[in-house]
Amino acid sequence: MLRKTTNNNNRGLNQGPPERCSFCGQTKRPAEMIAGLGRVSICIACVELCNQMLVRDKVKPHRKTFPKEALLKKIPIPLEIKAHLDKYVIGQDYAKKILAVAVNNHYKRILNPVPAHEVELEKSNVLLIGPTGCGKTLLARTLAKFLDVPLAIGDATTLTEAGYVGEDVENLLLRLIQAADYDLERAERGIIYIDEIDKIGRTHDNPSITRDVSGEGVQQGLLKMLEGTISNVPPQGGRKHPEQEYIKINTEHILFMAGGTFDGIEHIIGRRIGQKQIGFDSKQVSIDELQLGDILEHVEPEDLMEFGMIPEFIGRFPITCVVRPLTLAELTKVMTAPKNAIIRQYQEFFRMENAALEFTPPALEAIAKKALAKKTGARAIRAIIEELMLDIMFELPSIKGQKTYIISDKMVEGKEPIKLAALKEITPAKETA
Ligand code: ADP
Repeated sequence: MLRKTTNNNNRGLNQGPPERCSFCGQTKRPAEMIAGLGRVSICIACVELCNQMLVRDKVKPHRKTFPKEALLKKIPIPLEIKAHLDKYVIGQDYAKKILAVAVNNHYKRILNPVPAHEVELEKSNVLLIGPTGCGKTLLARTLAKFLDVPLAIGDATTLTEAGYVGEDVENLLLRLIQAADYDLERAERGIIYIDEIDKIGRTHDNPSITRDVSGEGVQQGLLKMLEGTISNVPPQGGRKHPEQEYIKINTEHILFMAGGTFDGIEHIIGRRIGQKQIGFDSKQVSIDELQLGDILEHVEPEDLMEFGMIPEFIGRFPITCVVRPLTLAELTKVMTAPKNAIIRQYQEFFRMENAALEFTPPALEAIAKKALAKKTGARAIRAIIEELMLDIMFELPSIKGQKTYIISDKMVEGKEPIKLAALKEITPAKETA
């Protein structure tokens, strides 16, 4: 087993005599050495080098005569894209249409880099705006699955301007390369979803003496990548070092999607277009959740600028797509309709125990109401149902015999106990085919 060399035991990391690395022959501080069997030891710099070599070997380089069509046999048409999104994402009809068209155009651009009529096709990066838990990430995930392209999801809040503590923007690309199993050609046609993009808005009251390294600095850092460039990606992630070998990746055909809640932008929009037009008073502190969707749909680049995004950054996202807060009916559907809906998953667990599970429509509505009150979109649903089902799931494997268990609204509202033994509505399960 490898261990740190013994010299540094209990003596503080930099103490003890320097040691010689058995690989590069350089003498290093004990804290930088890892000891092997006998008198063999290796310095951290050599370990890093080995690591880089391993990653480099994994990278499948660009093939010289690679037909670009090979990765995308046919351009998906908007109708098919939307139909696929409909299977997994509830509501958001308008957003789905915008995305379907954007993705269709994106792949047309990839397959026709020099259009016949000299019309340059703009990159279709998409900015998703809307409240939390309403399907922004889900849309990106579902799209990537349908297109069978690698997807990397990153969080803008972890990024900082190069040279500062935090992640370099290139780490997003590394994640995509990893998702493509180091196949660069596949990665170059993938999707990168950057969450919490609104959190890198320029801070207005930022005193000029301190640099805005996690706000405007990151927006600047992302510009080249968004537009299309050859990026140098450190193979192990983390910070770039001048002596490091980089993986080179072309970002020209990567589809960037960025999502954010842009809290408070509704007031900026409201002020701009005049409150009366959209029937809302910007002095009003809280805005009705559903009204929010209507207001957001009026968003213009100037509102995003006022919010703190720099014009160049907004310019790299020609498509803005508003994701609306989910209604009570939509939240109810989220629980049951998608192919992998949470209730279907629970029903599957019950089937495995030769039992069946049903939720009455009022029970579903009661759960949706609870979720709505939490204001975290569909995110709250899982936690509510898990809490509701805990005792039942605990007891279920110990109960013998086929049963159908019905969950009522009273149980959801806590007016009736939901222990298995206490369930009144137990009926023999119907024979399942
Ligand atoms: P965000 O808008 O914050 O990116 P997500 O897409 O991550 O939200 O949604 C969180 C979870 O909530 C998803 O994994 C999914 O289970 C559920 N969800 C959110 N919106 C929808 C929707 N429109 N249709 C179906 N499920 C949804």
